[in-house]
Amino acid sequence: MNVADSRRLASALEQIGYKSSKRPQEADVIVLNTCVVRQSAEDKAIGRLSSLRPLKEKNPDLVINLMGCLIGVRGNRKIQERFPWVDVVSPPSNPTPLINYLNERSGKTTLQLKQEKLNAILDGDLILPVEDQNTLVSAYIPIVYGCSHACTYCIIPNKRGIEHSRPYEEILAEAQCLANQGVKEITLLGQIVDRYGMDLPGKPTLAALLRDLHKINDLKRIRFLTSHPNWITDDLLEAVGELPKVCQHIEVPNQSGDDQILQTMRRGYTSAAYRELIQKIRTKIPSVSIATDIIVGFPGETEAQFQNTYRLLKELRMDVAHLARYSPREGTYSARKLANNIPEEEKMRRFRVLESLQETIAGEINTQHMGQSVNVLFEGKSRDRWRGRTKTNKLVFVESQENLRGKECDVTITWTGPWSMVGTLTS
Ligand code: SAM
Repeated sequence: MNVADSRRLASALEQIGYKSSKRPQEADVIVLNTCVVRQSAEDKAIGRLSSLRPLKEKNPDLVINLMGCLIGVRGNRKIQERFPWVDVVSPPSNPTPLINYLNERSGKTTLQLKQEKLNAILDGDLILPVEDQNTLVSAYIPIVYGCSHACTYCIIPNKRGIEHSRPYEEILAEAQCLANQGVKEITLLGQIVDRYGMDLPGKPTLAALLRDLHKINDLKRIRFLTSHPNWITDDLLEAVGELPKVCQHIEVPNQSGDDQILQTMRRGYTSAAYRELIQKIRTKIPSVSIATDIIVGFPGETEAQFQNTYRLLKELRMDVAHLARYSPREGTYSARKLANNIPEEEKMRRFRVLESLQETIAGEINTQHMGQSVNVLFEGKSRDRWRGRTKTNKLVFVESQENLRGKECDVTITWTGPWSMVGTLTS
């Protein structure tokens, strides 16, 4: 979401005459777009913010914009007081405060400003920043902002505000606009992406949106994330199964394999329901790959409860598991009411146990591709090799003298590991 927000802001800045600079020391404007989902992300943002102070002292005209969840939709006075060298603050996904600030300093006429501002922040008409034009293969499109669920550990609803879907036509326009600029793959984003449209007139669905996006000629692939177990519909799974451009990859967080923990997290489903859902997804889309998120060390998580999560992961054999150690976030229910009583070393031990299990599972799943031909969309180069992904979101590297950027090619797999595969172009 932040990558998408930053790109929109970069585009808006270019519309009012700014160019990107490679080094912060050379910049007139620095934007720090922040995430606070876990304490480690917040610490990183604070560290970067502190490191900007000498630049501001050296160049008082430098404009520093602090954006994203460190500010949140409600603002953050404490942070502004602590970091007085920040000139402008912006909530997540909103380029307007910075554009207004820069425009006001520019001395341009009101009419010019009005037009420039309109051009800069027009939704649905995203002109890619120069460095992405004709090179960006895969782009994110936020379709649901905010979140109205109340998972007890999660700070996102607090920071990104209530759930609201972007208008249907605006998303189609943005996707078309990106395709016209050479983008081949789009990923639709939302905290609970399958709730798309529930707050819009006529309640358009994500499945309907996928069907319409599928008609955009120059787009080769469409992805979406993140799903919530309670909101994935049969209609959505059917759309994924039927539409060739929609990638067979579902990201559906589980968070815990223990029913008591799930209840305390207020996730709204049981581990049995989650198992059934995974079974259903695999029946409807046989070639699907599935990713999950898991939190270890939630308040009060006993060894037996952790073992329930271990067993669930072992049994369901996910393609990817994003693992996190519980991090109490100020203002959430769990931080206020539940003791963070699993020692950090124990959280780390549980994390490592799941990590090692997942490494084995992912390695075994990927081995099945050995010698097979898979279809890969290439996004760019990493060192000397081309980097791309299968529709099931597996990372594949290939050596080739040809320019493969933006091309979909068949690749014969010659090496597999848990996190990536290597292959040669199938002739
Ligand atoms: N909205 C999605 C959901 O939870 O269904 C996922 C988005 S969230 C940005 C990404 C992941 O961060 C979550 O799935 C969860 O595993 C993790 N996360 C969120 N809050 C956390 C916390 N307080 N401590 C540790 N991990 C957390």
